[in-house]
Amino acid sequence: LASQASRASATPMMEQYIEIKANNPDSLLFYRMGDFYELFFQDAVDAARALGITLTKRGQHMGQDIPMCGVPIHAADDYLQKLIALGFRVAVCEQVEDPAEAKKRGSKSVVRRDVVRLVTPGTLTEEKLLSPSDANYLMTLSRLRSGAEPSLALAWIDISTGVFRLAETTPQRLLADILRIEPRELIVPDTLFHDPEFRPVIDVLGRVVVPQPAVLFDSATAEGRIARYFDVGTLDGFGTFSRAELSAASAAIAYVEKTQIAERPPLGPPERESAASTLFIDPATRANLELVRTLSGDRNGTLLKAIDRTVTSGGARLLAERLMSPLTDPEPINERLDSIAALADRPSFASDLRDVLKMLPDMPRALSRLALGRGGPRDLGALLQGLRAADAVARLMAQEALDGELAAALAAIAALPGELARRLEAMLADELPLLKRDGGFIREGADAELDEMRGLRDQSRRVIAGLQLQYAEETGVKSLKIKHNNVLGYFIEVSAGNASALTDGDEAKARFIHRQTMAGAMRFTTTVLSELETKIANAADRALAIELAAFDALSEAVVAEADAIKAAARALSVVDVSQGLAVLAEEQAYCRPVVDRSKMFAIVGGRHPVVEQALRKQAGNPFVANSCDLSPKGGMGAKGDGAIWLLTGPNMGGKSTFLRQNALIAILAQMGCYVPAESAHIGIVDRLFSRVGASDDLARGRSTFMVEMVETAAILNQATEHSLVILDEIGRGTATFDGLSIAWAAVEHLHEANRCRGLFATHFHELTVLSEKLARLSNATMRVKEWDGEVIFLHEVGPGAADRSYGIQVARLAGLPPSVVARAKDVLAKLEDADRKNPASQLIDDLPLFQVAVRREEAKSAGASKVEEMLKALSPDDMSPREALEALYALKREV
Ligand code: ADP
Repeated sequence: LASQASRASATPMMEQYIEIKANNPDSLLFYRMGDFYELFFQDAVDAARALGITLTKRGQHMGQDIPMCGVPIHAADDYLQKLIALGFRVAVCEQVEDPAEAKKRGSKSVVRRDVVRLVTPGTLTEEKLLSPSDANYLMTLSRLRSGAEPSLALAWIDISTGVFRLAETTPQRLLADILRIEPRELIVPDTLFHDPEFRPVIDVLGRVVVPQPAVLFDSATAEGRIARYFDVGTLDGFGTFSRAELSAASAAIAYVEKTQIAERPPLGPPERESAASTLFIDPATRANLELVRTLSGDRNGTLLKAIDRTVTSGGARLLAERLMSPLTDPEPINERLDSIAALADRPSFASDLRDVLKMLPDMPRALSRLALGRGGPRDLGALLQGLRAADAVARLMAQEALDGELAAALAAIAALPGELARRLEAMLADELPLLKRDGGFIREGADAELDEMRGLRDQSRRVIAGLQLQYAEETGVKSLKIKHNNVLGYFIEVSAGNASALTDGDEAKARFIHRQTMAGAMRFTTTVLSELETKIANAADRALAIELAAFDALSEAVVAEADAIKAAARALSVVDVSQGLAVLAEEQAYCRPVVDRSKMFAIVGGRHPVVEQALRKQAGNPFVANSCDLSPKGGMGAKGDGAIWLLTGPNMGGKSTFLRQNALIAILAQMGCYVPAESAHIGIVDRLFSRVGASDDLARGRSTFMVEMVETAAILNQATEHSLVILDEIGRGTATFDGLSIAWAAVEHLHEANRCRGLFATHFHELTVLSEKLARLSNATMRVKEWDGEVIFLHEVGPGAADRSYGIQVARLAGLPPSVVARAKDVLAKLEDADRKNPASQLIDDLPLFQVAVRREEAKSAGASKVEEMLKALSPDDMSPREALEALYALKREV
């Protein structure tokens, strides 16, 4: 009602604005007026503050000034970028008819306007709004409650490249799966959004999560919606999907349709990813290992940065994608490794390839803009250049005998339609304007009528230049000029002092028609001049119309080949990633890992890829390589469970670095990349867990210790015999005895229950006695040298246990006052004395082994189930009171 009242009292334009705004309440409305997008009311206030632009007002509404601000069309992308980054959503409202049409309806009529697009973080396509090396995913999450367990599925789309994927997930994996894809926008049904169970996901992802009406996720209509989008009768050709997957996929499409309004981006058919095919990396591990972002959010200092030698944006995106989702099947991993080997073996071919790839523009994104009607001449130019580069790549590759992934890539690249390139080449000019409405992008000689119109236009312009000379001579006003602006068109301008030469006398009066008087000048026109002007305008209009038609035809021709272009672009990314990794392997002396289905983990001379490169830059001490062997006991190919190393050593000795480097080597190997080592043999890891460093979660109100325990619990509950577990300093955040006890029990659990491969760094030396009882546990230590009371860190891992922690020495190095250091030494001596009398290491003799404790638990539960069995066997209706009493006694005996 309020809005009705407010509409009734508004001007016709404001009335239109208020109506459109009411339909887009959660977006800023960019309302097109001439060469500006204007914002009004609260939108204007918010946008002016966010963008730092001037807030003005325009007219009044219901007795109040209307706040207004505006952004010029040509700079709109920059402002959009800022607003999207700040978390706003923007509805772009354009004029959808010629203003002349509106005038025909009546003088008060407003030009029809409509929202043509919602700009949201997950649906961007503009070059300025996208980062070239990152995918830009829109993700949907559906939850169907059919049985006891809800089924969850994710769908994710990059409309800037057309990638469309699906996967099922579980409540336990959900966050890990989302973080693996890193969506810019996660769309969930509003019912789920407000479900307290979902709260933790929102806590982590923040405003990336956007609720939408649950009908978007309706699973009954899902299949139909997807089929309509791809214009197929049935989805059978795409594979089989679960109901939850269909719901997520159809919601993703519905959201694309909702935001793109009339346009349809060229999506590939949905591809299903199975959870088992990717290495599971839990969210804490992903963050701690700093794969694509450091804990502080930086790109520098990450594993991705350290290994990226790609030269195309598609290659950079594919590399990041592979790093985020390493595989668990040795076959495709080895295929990727083969590609690197093939290029590493042919250095000059690889270097030629690299040179050509450097010229490859971002074809999928240009294609997607063209398909969405947002493209410009430079997008066509990008495709032409891309097709040329692809052709050069294909010719280079055809000369080599390649197989596997590279042969498949060559086939996809060679399948690009040559005709399209020839057509673009024949039509496009060498220099291309940004906007098609600027014209001038069709080459001379490409279209006869266009050439004629341009000829007419240019010829008339020359005639005008001649006229200026002629009028100057005839009037005697040397400074007379013929100028042009958008309001008057062509006009003659003389200074006010000279005006009399054009206004005095009948002849002059008949000839020069007065148009405008300025402060210091007067403007005129003549019939000859206006006739010429009409000619020019007509010719220019016609020329532009021809160019725009040619643009549409070329766009259409490009979009018709969308599938071939996307496939080739993907193939070129594969080639780029392979050459990049081959360059890296050569430059950093990486080796090809052996990857198979064993439980081996044998790294000889391993290094930390990021720390190594950082140390090299500082040109100080080189990185010290360290081996790590967690393979089943009994050497190569032995069956059985993997081993655990218990690593002790002083702070700053290099424990964390060693732990991380082995996790990173596993990830690199399974993404199909050479690894920083002399040799490496890795049996596929199904899940990688790490508890390293203190990732403070205080913002969420959890203490460091609580976080550590939550993460440790997740590991002990989820690690399988194929997992790799990296634990650093468990139990550090609590009292010594608590901490030691927890660490002790955790090691036992990993060894006896999880039976996984693991590295366990600890400052509790007491734990090292465990190796006497646990067959697959060995002790390792960071070696140090003591010299003149100082510690020297050798960063070398050797067998055995550290005898001391050197904490006081490290504290002294850090600059603790000498008096404190001396006092600490005294206290330590007393404590060590006490411990010698009753050492914690004696525990190993006093405590029953963990395994036994487990058995007792099992025995207890076995007892319970026997009683259950007996109870189940009873049938009270058939029993006499006496029999019932006997049965009761029998039951009592069992407990
Ligand atoms: P810890 O976990 O034992 O406290 P870190 O792993 O944090 O020790 O390492 C301490 C420092 O030693 C790091 O800053 C790193 O630069 C350096 N360092 C660690 N390992 C090596 C190595 N293998 N070679 C050279 N320097 C190393």
